[in-house]
Amino acid sequence: LVFLGIESSCDDTAAAVVTGDGRILSSVVAGQNSLHADFGGVVPEIAARAHAERLDGVVEQALAEAGKDLSDLDGVAVTAGPGLIGGVMAGVMMAKGLVAGTGLPLVGVNHLAGHALTPRLTDGIGFPYVMLLVSGGHCQFLRVEGPEDFTRLGGTIDDAPGEAFDKLARLLGLPQPGGPSVEAEAAEGDASRFDLPRPLLDRPGFDMSFSGLKTAALRQRDELVAAQGGLYQRDRADLCAGFQAAVSDLLAGKAARVLKASPAPVLAVAGGVAANRTIRAALEKVSNDAGARFLAPPLALCTDNGAMIAWAGIERFRQGAADDLSLAARPRWPLDQRAAPMLGAGK
Ligand code: ATP
Ligand code: FE
Repeated sequence: LVFLGIESSCDDTAAAVVTGDGRILSSVVAGQNSLHADFGGVVPEIAARAHAERLDGVVEQALAEAGKDLSDLDGVAVTAGPGLIGGVMAGVMMAKGLVAGTGLPLVGVNHLAGHALTPRLTDGIGFPYVMLLVSGGHCQFLRVEGPEDFTRLGGTIDDAPGEAFDKLARLLGLPQPGGPSVEAEAAEGDASRFDLPRPLLDRPGFDMSFSGLKTAALRQRDELVAAQGGLYQRDRADLCAGFQAAVSDLLAGKAARVLKASPAPVLAVAGGVAANRTIRAALEKVSNDAGARFLAPPLALCTDNGAMIAWAGIERFRQGAADDLSLAARPRWPLDQRAAPMLGAGK
């Protein structure tokens, strides 16, 4: 099998060609950071227009780099949600155009399923496994029992950690995206200087909360600014270290709880925040303590990309799933809602 995957649900326009035995023949990602930089966040209208303008070229490049023509493909997979609706629609229209012209099968993919199935693409693991999806927009634990069998065990009840990292960085005057800047600062800092909360950590269940932590860190910053007229380098580093340690404790603490209640041979992570070395190390430790293998796909496959969509499309296709030209773009699409019914007339 050879599938083209198309992703345009947030601020990356991506396409990739992937084979049924898990070879990534090409993976092209055109980011939009510079387009949104002046606005302090992704602007949906700008994102949608950029996707519409770039999709053709990105798909063409992915095919060229893979050395494949449309006639070599066995199907086209596309993110059909959840995400910014203008971008998702642009991708779905692109995919429909390709299949209408060629008669290829069309498979609509849930973006989160793309992330959640990535460890099967990279490491060929079997089911079940537990997935921590932790990014700028998401934070949830999933139990994955099959290509379309996801159970959401718990997740953030407010902010996603990536967006909290970004906010903290912005208010400390550090460059975006905030995660890597905060991590770099934290390397020089003393995590114990500020007493930051660990909301919900000791509560039963698998839900998490990050907004109180963010607020507490910002309050510490304001107090320092009020007391000394600004922040010293030391203050920034200590705040970043304290914040990162708290996020790490929260994720690892809940991961330990999840693995205890829902044992699985593997804990896998995906999402940009999974790039953080302190967080990775903490998750690896709780996995090992629970007798589970810890898996973190390469960073380029942790963040948004077309390869994960192509792969998830292959997995759905193998289950007998296919959509038709009535495939709808969906802004919201919870992963544990069994896939088909709202996907239009697809089987
Ligand atoms: P989603 O894909 O969930 O809609 P997204 O596009 O924001 O959201 P990603 O591209 O997976 O998600 O991740 C980006 C986020 O990851 C940003 O918030 C960024 O700050 C964070 N991040 C990246 N590197 C690190 C790091 N080293 N430490 C902490 N956070 C990080
Ligand atoms: Fe994503």
